[in-house]
Amino acid sequence: MENKRGVLFVISGPSGVGKGTLRKELFKRMEGLTYSVSCTTRQPREGERDGVDYRFIDMETFMNYVKENKFLEWAKVHGNYYGTLESDVRKLLDEGHDIVLEIDVQGALQVKNKMPEAVLIFIMPPSEEELIKRLDRRGTENDRELEERIKNAKKEILESKKYDFIVVNDDLKKAVEELEKIFENVKNKMRKN
Ligand code: ADP
Ligand code: 5GP
Repeated sequence: MENKRGVLFVISGPSGVGKGTLRKELFKRMEGLTYSVSCTTRQPREGERDGVDYRFIDMETFMNYVKENKFLEWAKVHGNYYGTLESDVRKLLDEGHDIVLEIDVQGALQVKNKMPEAVLIFIMPPSEEELIKRLDRRGTENDRELEERIKNAKKEILESKKYDFIVVNDDLKKAVEELEKIFENVKNKMRKN
């Protein structure tokens, strides 16, 4: 039987909105999704594992990958560099895997440019106050970093109109269910084409 090409899902949204939480919940509920692990120059947070959460690389390696055109997309986000390796994504899609990228808005729009068939989903906070609370509660950033992330959130939200879907992450369970429905509908539609 012919192996159908996989679907590329791209999830973005402000830092602290709950992208990672939602993605992990979604992966528990849905089978057959593959998460594409990004490269970053940021330092690992407590509990983060190299090759699982990110590939933690230094600036020199990152810039070599840029020069060698290895990234499908890359961007500077909140002062650190992040990128998705193109070879990984294309190989997995060709093998028929559905892939999830969790990347920022600049990266998502680069992906859409190169691969218009990618499905862009924006995770929206219920309010600015709630977003600040979540970032605060997570406690992984210092005050300066927190301020930078909140400032960026406003810019990112303005770009949400360029996305195919918007999911408000108010109640976690409802948001996961909505996300799952989007994934199912897109996959069914693509399978019929
Ligand atoms: P992101 O990956 O977008 O930066 P996280 O997944 O790390 O965000 O979530 C940030 C914080 O918000 C975490 O402490 C997480 O437990 C919490 N959180 C996520 N979704 C919700 C929700 N729907 N309601 C309340 N808290 C949430
Ligand atoms: P964090 O440092 O909190 O893990 O991530 C910060 C931001 O970088 C988030 O918005 C996250 O989605 C984004 N990000 C993570 N990986 C990539 C990537 O490979 N490319 C781009 N453009 N952004 C990424």
